[in-house]
Amino acid sequence: MCQNCQKKPVFKLISGESLCKNCFLRYFEKKVRKTIRVHKLIDKKDEIAVAVSGGKDSLTVLDLLCNIYKENKNVRIKALLIDEGIDGYRDASVAHAKKFCKERNIPLEIHSYKKEFGFTLDSVVKGRKPCSVCGVLRRNLLNTHARAMGVKKLATGHNLDDEAQTIIMNQFRKNVEASARLGPLTGIEDHEGFVRRIKPLYFMSEKEIMTYAFLKGIVDDFNECPYNKESYRNQVREMLNQFEELYPGTKHSIVTSFMEVLPLLKQKEKGNGRIKQCQKCGEPSSQDVCQKCIVLQQIKSA
Ligand code: SF4
Ligand code: ZN
Repeated sequence: MCQNCQKKPVFKLISGESLCKNCFLRYFEKKVRKTIRVHKLIDKKDEIAVAVSGGKDSLTVLDLLCNIYKENKNVRIKALLIDEGIDGYRDASVAHAKKFCKERNIPLEIHSYKKEFGFTLDSVVKGRKPCSVCGVLRRNLLNTHARAMGVKKLATGHNLDDEAQTIIMNQFRKNVEASARLGPLTGIEDHEGFVRRIKPLYFMSEKEIMTYAFLKGIVDDFNECPYNKESYRNQVREMLNQFEELYPGTKHSIVTSFMEVLPLLKQKEKGNGRIKQCQKCGEPSSQDVCQKCIVLQQIKSA
């Protein structure tokens, strides 16, 4: 029975507590509000773009932020979607995101690889790692379009599971600099060329978000990108899921212990990687030529 009100439980927390529908929704929203407040993710007059894919995580963030700030006209929320061109997957999620935004009167901007780069992701992945190409190009488009929209922050649907995977991936690859950029508020310091990213679902697990999205009717199917299975991230995800099964709380421990050392990592990396301008496209970059231009060059010369 639900710990608080003795009704039928719908979710068991890692602490062992069981919660009914209403208590679970309250618990979830309270924890997200706390993340926003404690980590100072949103200022009083911020304009926010939410990076939506049409999936459960990003639409949950969009829904929550719209509800939290519905009485506050100084915080304005918009949605930004990048269509990579993934057959049999993206069309349905774009349609769902459009419907979702229309019903709630949220302005939505859509940009595609096809229009921006002249190709779809499907047409260039042969012989390449799809997620490496996709991640670099999407990051670039999200940043340039969020900047053009004039927003202060870009909210994403990254959750506790995603972050635990990224922390472990960075450790396995000895990428301390990338780890220093993590956290609920990403980046090390402000830079006019980068829109800082915020992750309101940072401490929410994938299971919690699935339950929340389902109970609130945010999504009714949980389709995955067909390329997901091929990724390095997916191997780390499966490994962590196995550990979580055997030792409940593993992912939570990875993220919370990481949060304790994160201020030291940010301090260490501060001022280290001077931001330059990409010699080809002028976008901010840690190298002479940015990753997007390197990927585009490789695709062009293949
Ligand atoms: Fe892109 Fe990989 Fe994510 Fe699919 S799973 S949307 S290819 S990053
Ligand atoms: Zn460039």
